[in-house]
Amino acid sequence: MDVILLGTGSPIPDPRRAGPATLVRAGGATILFDCGRGVVMRLAGAGVLPQTLSAIVITHMHSDHICDLNDVITSHWVMSPIPQPLAIYGPPGTEALVKATLAMLSPDIGYRLAHHADLNEGPEVVVTELAPGDTTQIGACELAAYRTEHAPVRPTLGYRVTCGTAIAAVAGDTVPCAGLDALCKGAGVYVQTVVRDDLVRRVPSRRFQDILDYHSTVEQAGTTAQKAGVKILLLTHYVPPMQAGDEDSWRALAAAHFDGKIVLGDDLTKVSLPE
Ligand SMILES: [Zn+2]
Ligand SMILES: [Zn+2]
Repeated sequence: MDVILLGTGSPIPDPRRAGPATLVRAGGATILFDCGRGVVMRLAGAGVLPQTLSAIVITHMHSDHICDLNDVITSHWVMSPIPQPLAIYGPPGTEALVKATLAMLSPDIGYRLAHHADLNEGPEVVVTELAPGDTTQIGACELAAYRTEHAPVRPTLGYRVTCGTAIAAVAGDTVPCAGLDALCKGAGVYVQTVVRDDLVRRVPSRRFQDILDYHSTVEQAGTTAQKAGVKILLLTHYVPPMQAGDEDSWRALAAAHFDGKIVLGDDLTKVSLPE
């Protein structure tokens, strides 16, 4: 199983970091978690063309996690040599999100249908809304949904992907909670979006401080990883953007609470687990 950080950024614009998106490849399946800014470019960087995706999985509807969903839908559609459905999983509200996205794309869909004689229908998107406790099969991978806590954003889900003996916990944006502990229990890799509260607190902006309300800090990610007995903690969604050469100071904050391996870095950072 390969877990690749496609985008390690956040809503804060950063020329080096795409928006939140993580790729899990295992057992022949290629699963995209979230569709942040620049996701199709980073998929290309990982050697993945949109039409080869097995499924898209959405953690929650914050704009930084879904703003390029339209690009994935369009690219999957026009680059597929023969019509093939695109499977999208997510919490309740995903169906409405996809419907609205297709409505936004309707002029473009019309242009392409009018232009290409071999395109006879628009994108076929098959949405499955999931609740905590639901599981589904994507190729050889089992996908299980867990409740996370990112209030006032509701609903939010974290996902556990199991393929053979490999387990990845893709947590999304969440503070520590019982659902997150269950999601991470014994995982080979735990992917957590994080903030640095020590740095955020220095910024004299009420709106920026609000970010601290509903994300895990780097220390909390380390504590969750330790409690759950995960092997590798993979940090992403760095707020504020992690600067070059700063990796060790971020790692040290998690290492104070977690004995295992801690991985962080730029877009396309990869962790591999035996299946
Ligand atoms: Zn969020
Ligand atoms: Zn976010």
